[in-house]
Amino acid sequence: PPAEAPVIVIDAHGLPYLDARKPVRERVADLLARMTLDEKVGQMTQAERGALAKQSDIATYLLGSLLSGGGSTPTPNTPQAWADMIDAYQLRARQTRLQVPLIYGVDAVHGHNNLVGATIFPHNAGMGATRDPALVEQEGEITAREVKATGIPWDFAPCLCVSRDDRWGRAYESFGEDPALVSRMATIIDGLQDNGVLATAKHYVGDGGTEYGSSTSGDYTIDQGVTRLSRQELASLHLAPFAEAVKRGVATVMPSFSSVDFGDGPLKMHAHKELITGTLKGRLGFKGFVISDWAGIDQLPGDSPTDVRTSVNAGLDMIMVPYAYPAFTGTLKAEVEAGRVPMSRVDDAVARILTQKFGLGLFEHPYADRAHLGDVGSPAHRAVARTAAARSQVLLKNEGGLLPLRRDAKVYVAGSNADDIGNQTGGWTITWQGSSGPITPGTTILQAVRSRASSVTYSRDASADLAGHDVGVVVVGETPYAEGQGDVGRAGRTLDLSAADRAAIDRVCGAMKCAVLVVSGRPLVLGDLSKVKAVVASWLPGTEGDGVADPLFGAVPYTGRLPFTWFRSADQVPINVGDAAYDPLFPYGWGLRTDRGRDRLKAARDRLAGGDGPSRAAAATLTLALPDRNWNADGSVRDTRAVLGALGAAATLLERSKTGTYAVGDAVVSVARDVAQSGGRRFDLQASADHELAAGNLRKAVDLLARSAR
Ligand code: BGC
Repeated sequence: PPAEAPVIVIDAHGLPYLDARKPVRERVADLLARMTLDEKVGQMTQAERGALAKQSDIATYLLGSLLSGGGSTPTPNTPQAWADMIDAYQLRARQTRLQVPLIYGVDAVHGHNNLVGATIFPHNAGMGATRDPALVEQEGEITAREVKATGIPWDFAPCLCVSRDDRWGRAYESFGEDPALVSRMATIIDGLQDNGVLATAKHYVGDGGTEYGSSTSGDYTIDQGVTRLSRQELASLHLAPFAEAVKRGVATVMPSFSSVDFGDGPLKMHAHKELITGTLKGRLGFKGFVISDWAGIDQLPGDSPTDVRTSVNAGLDMIMVPYAYPAFTGTLKAEVEAGRVPMSRVDDAVARILTQKFGLGLFEHPYADRAHLGDVGSPAHRAVARTAAARSQVLLKNEGGLLPLRRDAKVYVAGSNADDIGNQTGGWTITWQGSSGPITPGTTILQAVRSRASSVTYSRDASADLAGHDVGVVVVGETPYAEGQGDVGRAGRTLDLSAADRAAIDRVCGAMKCAVLVVSGRPLVLGDLSKVKAVVASWLPGTEGDGVADPLFGAVPYTGRLPFTWFRSADQVPINVGDAAYDPLFPYGWGLRTDRGRDRLKAARDRLAGGDGPSRAAAATLTLALPDRNWNADGSVRDTRAVLGALGAAATLLERSKTGTYAVGDAVVSVARDVAQSGGRRFDLQASADHELAAGNLRKAVDLLARSAR
């Protein structure tokens, strides 16, 4: 605790709930039995830290939780200052009768993104492109370590939205348009929770499925709108990732600001008893607690007592108020006393909250562990974020094998996103909406290119002399935005490249061979690419620009795959894999690789050779595909039939194997994909194959790719 803090001695004698040796269930029951209604209502209240009139309000209103939210007042911005701030709040909570600790929450949605100097990962769209659940779990682990170091045990992440419309300003918070892919990325929950930070699956449910133009709040166009579908469609498209999150023991779930309409009119999720109490807590068996979104209950149509009653009775356990906590606690108390909110509902909510607090060990260790402050933004953490950025890069086009670049090339770098950490990290970085410029320490893409190529000219608008260069790298894309502000149609947002970026592409690519890197939260309209040799989707890669440059210069191969269908023109949107008329520029799952198929297959074979029976059989089968006669000199496939035959047989065996990991299966499919890409390029089949792979159906994936190659 801070130096000036009076020491509180907790004496477990005679107070079972303070005895850490007792099972959590008993501690919860004991504490609950001691609590007054005021104390219970306080536990259900989360206040915005900037809204606290005085710090002593924490004790006066017996608050259960505080947050620094997106729209929050700025917070002191060193790790030490964060830890001091939260410890001081905690101290107030410990000065209440029952000494129940606060639980503090932040939005650490791509690393500890509120904190200057923290390690910032690619946003979820890029993490989806990696197709690597283990890497996403590692992101969770590192985020947890940095968040925990500053005294915070709760993260409002991950967003498990399945974004179905790129006009949504939160599309980049989505791992992808396919529920199977999003579900696989729920591993981030383990990374967070196994390292002492509660995760929040949000926004339950259907936030990524809202109809464009359906929002009723102000001039918002799609965020917080209405998702119209049948119960069955909701289950298969949007609910699946939450089912997976519950399976993994996610501690908290946040309802969406949006509404669901099953055909009988829209109902706000914050009032949706069927989906919260019935489906989430009932059928899916969710045992954690439900935290409202920011002032979400104020969006319900009634007066304040009605909103409080409706939402708590629908199954919300803690309310992110975020400002009017004195009014909220008074109203909830009155509703309970009048019998309109049953005491059993309050007890259930408080028990759920306390269970998590005990589980975290907060009663025993309420303060920040200063030993880990040095982990924030550490080189080891940045190395993982760099790997994530590298693996998130999707090579969309590579005519004549322009990429990877040679280090001795004379490189001309241009474009609005070549040298801008703020644009590279996007929204939810340091501030809610993010901003351009040097907002936090990191490496820009330009700096990373400079440290590799022997000769680099940089001219943002491509006005500097173009002659005498071997290759151009034009880094274009979006400027930062977050919820609401990023919707197309809002604040002048479109899916087009800016005129300046388009001009830079035309100038540079008209004068030399060039690659275009698109730093954006979603696919954009690329326009005429006839003069552009290579295109890379870089997403919002975070603070580690080296991760973008690694595959660009061949230190690692390009391996990422599209998490979203890349449309040709804005009027194709919304467009998603599985649509009846599917004619995108690049399909869902697309991504060229710059490593050699044969090497990948060898590596997969070697990994399988040490596995169980079916794995060893699969290894033997893969060996049949490896002889020289099947491959070209560059490692690409020559004998399509022979290789695909062996891959198909291996896939069948792998599906029966316990140790045939997804990664190995992925290698098998990626080689099949090369074959397909060199052949017929049937986009629909390749997109379906990616879906089957995400769902774990290797054999089907390989079969589809084989058909697309013919
Ligand atoms: C967002 C949530 C976020 C919350 C707290 C809301 O506006 O929708 O995703 O967790 O603010 O910052």
